[in-house]
Amino acid sequence: MKRKKLVAGNWKMNLEINEAIHLANDIKAARGSFNCDVLLIPSFLFIADVKHIVYATGIHLGAQNCSIYENGAYTGEVSAKQLKGAGVEYIIIGHSERREHFGENHNVLRQKLEIALKYGLKPIFCCGEPLDVREAGKQKEYVLKQLQESLFGLTAKDFANITIAYEPIWAIGTGLNATPEQAQEMHAFIRKELADKHPIALQMRIIYGGSCNPANINELFGCPDVDGSLVGGSSLRSKDFIAITAAAK
Ligand code: PEP
Repeated sequence: MKRKKLVAGNWKMNLEINEAIHLANDIKAARGSFNCDVLLIPSFLFIADVKHIVYATGIHLGAQNCSIYENGAYTGEVSAKQLKGAGVEYIIIGHSERREHFGENHNVLRQKLEIALKYGLKPIFCCGEPLDVREAGKQKEYVLKQLQESLFGLTAKDFANITIAYEPIWAIGTGLNATPEQAQEMHAFIRKELADKHPIALQMRIIYGGSCNPANINELFGCPDVDGSLVGGSSLRSKDFIAITAAAK
């Protein structure tokens, strides 16, 4: 089954406004070379500027988080509805940094998935095991539990709007990427488990994240079940990010 690759840049809490504008413009200038879907995921603060830059270019816009609440007295929160209204299309849910630093458990993630889907945002649901779990050979059980807890109750229509990001925690920001064999094994496993629930999962994109760079991306993109990449560090350097998009055929 042919799935168009997605290369997504998660800028996290990096960059100043002028740097974000510069980076978005550099990526926009390269758009003629893209053979994949390209997604920029800036800080909330830069969404309006980046939207203005990528408007009508085919480059997609995402956000890194949303509130579990609809609206109201929740100081500091940003709602899914507000994001949709601001032109955001994709939303990261379940990133390991939010699970770890902000205590987001499966109840919270489930609420975020539901509210994001309700307002027409496309979740990028992140899953992946820590190092001790990988060393114990229990990565499949660990990831399956993450999928079961947050995704298994959703409908086929919901699945059609979700992208999965397999991100082994030991590979995020460490320079240690999964080997193509490790990535392929986990992506095929995730796809099978989801397809047993809803066959539409055969069409879902399962992207890989964890220290992707121009030197390791060709091998990873050569895996039949790797449908793109969620890129952290390398997405902050336009040359590297554009090189990663070039590897996606
Ligand atoms: C991420 O945080 O989603 C990520 C993949 O980061 P990095 O590419 O820096 O490992």
